[in-house]
Amino acid sequence: MTSMTGRVPKVGFVSLGCPKATVDSERILTQLRAEGYGIVGSYADADVVVVNTCGFIDAAVEESLDAIGEALAENGRVIVTGCLGAKAELIRAAHPKVLAVTGPQALDAVMQAVHTALPRPHDPYTDLVPPGGIKLTPRHYAYLKISEGCNHRCTFCIIPSLRGDLVSRPVGDVMREAEALVRAGVRELLVVSQDTSAYGVDVKYRPGFWNGRPLKTRMADLAGALGSLGVWVRLHYVYPYPSVDDVIPLMAEGRVLPYLDIPFQHASERILRLMKRPGAVEKTLDRIAAWRQAVPDLTLRSTFIVGFPGETEADFETLLEFLQVAQLDRVGCFTYSPVEGAAANALPGAVPEAVKAERLERFMAVQAEISARRLAAKVGREIEVIVDAEDEAGSVARSRADAPEIDGVVYLDGVHGLAPGTQLTVRVEDAGEHDLWGSPVMVR
Ligand code: SF4
Repeated sequence: MTSMTGRVPKVGFVSLGCPKATVDSERILTQLRAEGYGIVGSYADADVVVVNTCGFIDAAVEESLDAIGEALAENGRVIVTGCLGAKAELIRAAHPKVLAVTGPQALDAVMQAVHTALPRPHDPYTDLVPPGGIKLTPRHYAYLKISEGCNHRCTFCIIPSLRGDLVSRPVGDVMREAEALVRAGVRELLVVSQDTSAYGVDVKYRPGFWNGRPLKTRMADLAGALGSLGVWVRLHYVYPYPSVDDVIPLMAEGRVLPYLDIPFQHASERILRLMKRPGAVEKTLDRIAAWRQAVPDLTLRSTFIVGFPGETEADFETLLEFLQVAQLDRVGCFTYSPVEGAAANALPGAVPEAVKAERLERFMAVQAEISARRLAAKVGREIEVIVDAEDEAGSVARSRADAPEIDGVVYLDGVHGLAPGTQLTVRVEDAGEHDLWGSPVMVR
C-alpha cells in the first residue's frame, strides 16, 4: 500500500465545486506531487482518495455526499476536504467510514490526513515541482524550474541553509517537461531556479539525452534547446557569472527572449564583498555594454538592496552612479531586512530605518526616470506582444520586455475578443512609468 514497498504511493482525487475550490484542489495536487505522491485517475489504482467537496447549495451537498459514497464503495479509503468539510458531523453521519474530514483551504490539514493514511515517499527531487504548480486550468505561460538550492553564500540570504546546495534537474527531464507544457498550449516558458547560470555545475555539465541526442546540463545548451520549441523562453535569476555571455548569441539569433533578470544587489565593491557577491563593477558595466551591442533590444531587469549593514552615503552614491551608467530597464529595490539566520546580521554598521527608507526613495526616483525614458523611446515602434487577459478597456498584453506579474504590461485599449496567449504585433502609441499603450498592426 505504501512507499515502504518501494513503489510510488498513489492518490486519487475528486474535485467538485466552484473555481475557488478548483484552486484549492490545484494546491493540494501540487503539494502531493511536490512530496512525491503519484496522482491517479481511477479508484482502483489509488491507495487513498481525496474528495474536495462543495456545500454551497443543497444540490451541491447531495453531489458531494454521493461522491464520497462512490469513493468509499469503489476504494474504501477516503479523505474529505473542502466547503462541505466544514460540516464534519453531516459527513460522518452519512459516511462514518471516512478516514478524515477537513474544511476549505486547509492544505496543511489535508496533507496531514494524507500522511497518516499513506506515508510520504522519499525522493531527492520531490521539491522540484515548478512553483506555478500543477494547473487544472490552461495557462499560456509556465514556470520551468531547472534546479533547486544554491552554491553561493550571499550573506543576506538563507536559501542555501534552507534548501541546500545546488541540485540540477536532469536536462532530459527538463526538456520533456518543457515539451509537454508546449503541447498543452504554453506559449512562454519562464526558466527559474535560485541561480539559473549555475545550472549543471553540480554534475560537471554532464550530458543528458533529449530526442536521442546528447545535450549538456548547462544553461546555454538548455536555453538553445528550449529555444527550438518555438515558444518564448525567458531567463530569470541569472547570477552574474561569465557564463551569462554564452546566452547572448541565442538572444541575438532570436531563439531566446532578449531579456535577462540579473540581481546585481549593489554596485559598491566594498558592499558587494560584504555581501559575498562578485565585486568587479567596472567589468559588469563593460559586459552590459557588450551585451547591448550584440543585442540592442536587450531588456535588463535587476534587484538591489539598500541599507545593507555598513553601507555609507558614499557607497550609496556609487550605486546611484551605477544606475545612471547601466541604464537598466526594470529594477526592484528593497531595504535590507535582517532575515533570521543570515550571516549579514552580525556585520557592524546597521543602517537606521529612516536612512534606509530615505535611500530607497532616492534610488526609486533615479530609476523611475531611467525606466520611463527607456519606455518612452519605444513610442512609435512596432513590437510583438502576447495577450494575458481582457479588462473593460480592452486587452492586456505583454511584450518581450515584460515578464508576467513583475514587469509592466502593454494595454490594447478598445481591442476585445483576443484569447489569452494570442500573439500579435502592435504599434506603441504611449508610454508611462511602467506600462505601454498600443494598437494592433497584424494578428498572427
Ligand atoms: S541570494 Fe541567490 S545566489 Fe545568493 S545565496 Fe541566496 S539564492 Fe544563492
